Amino acid sequence: MKEIQVFDAHCDTAILWYKNRIDFFNGKKGHATYKKLKKGNVKFQVFAICLNSAAGEFDPLRDILQNIKFFTQRIDASRKVKLIRTKQDLIDVNKEKNLMGAILGIEGGDLIRGSFEIAEILYSLGVRVFTPVWNYRNSIGSGMWEEDSDKGLTRFGKKLIPFLQELGMIIDVSHAAKETFNDILECSIKPVIASHSNAKKICSHPRNLTDKQLKMLNKNGSVIGVNFFPKFLTNSGKATRQDVIKHVKYLYNLISPDSIGFGSDFDGILRTPAGLETAEQYQLLIRDLERDGFDLKTIKKIAFKNWYNLFKKQL
Ligand SMILES: [Zn+2]
Repeated sequence: MKEIQVFDAHCDTAILWYKNRIDFFNGKKGHATYKKLKKGNVKFQVFAICLNSAAGEFDPLRDILQNIKFFTQRIDASRKVKLIRTKQDLIDVNKEKNLMGAILGIEGGDLIRGSFEIAEILYSLGVRVFTPVWNYRNSIGSGMWEEDSDKGLTRFGKKLIPFLQELGMIIDVSHAAKETFNDILECSIKPVIASHSNAKKICSHPRNLTDKQLKMLNKNGSVIGVNFFPKFLTNSGKATRQDVIKHVKYLYNLISPDSIGFGSDFDGILRTPAGLETAEQYQLLIRDLERDGFDLKTIKKIAFKNWYNLFKKQL
């Protein structure tokens, strides 16, 4: 089978690079460095910038802005990776054989601090994916570790979601607690995404989505990115490439082939499935899909097209 292009909706690689733990262009360490993405035929990658608000010792606004500056300056200078800001950028990069597209995301809206202006500044800096909550509570709503006290979106959050969608940011429900998840769908004016979340029926981790949530997402027109973290793939916490496919199959049967994508979470996860240790192995995963009976059209949708079409419509 010919190599199939990949669109991956979530990795934390930009954070590790900023923290000097990996060297994106020249280093060997890391799951989703430039060379590894290239080898896996990843054409578009969403690079999320996330700073854990429980750590306490940092200023989310300052650190995220610094991380954005660090990342965007370096990829611009490389001339190998282009930051995707518009639909036209997406189309142009897709035609350009040697160019990779990077989409910038913010994971956890703690830096917004109740300010629509900060949201606009983030947009002007190129942020196009916005995950309102990470695992805790902020001025927008609650993350899944606050499930017990989750009261859904705040008044500000309810205004912010459509405001961001109007601007051209894509809203990501991964990490949201249940009521916050419901409210995000309720006040959305465009399809949302679950960039890196799996099916709870297969693995009961609280980060995963119930059948009810998956069906709500399908009705909303969203795409769900299957996450490669073994703890989100199986209840035993041990996984192989085949466990990724189990989630794909489950989503395929429960909802629709148009709602499935990949959101590896590479460089944000401590362990990876056997045989899928880095982005280099993406084509092996795709070959497994073929071996498991998926037709070429469906494989292309899952690996690339579903995300590509959703981003093309919303950017
Ligand atoms: Zn995450």
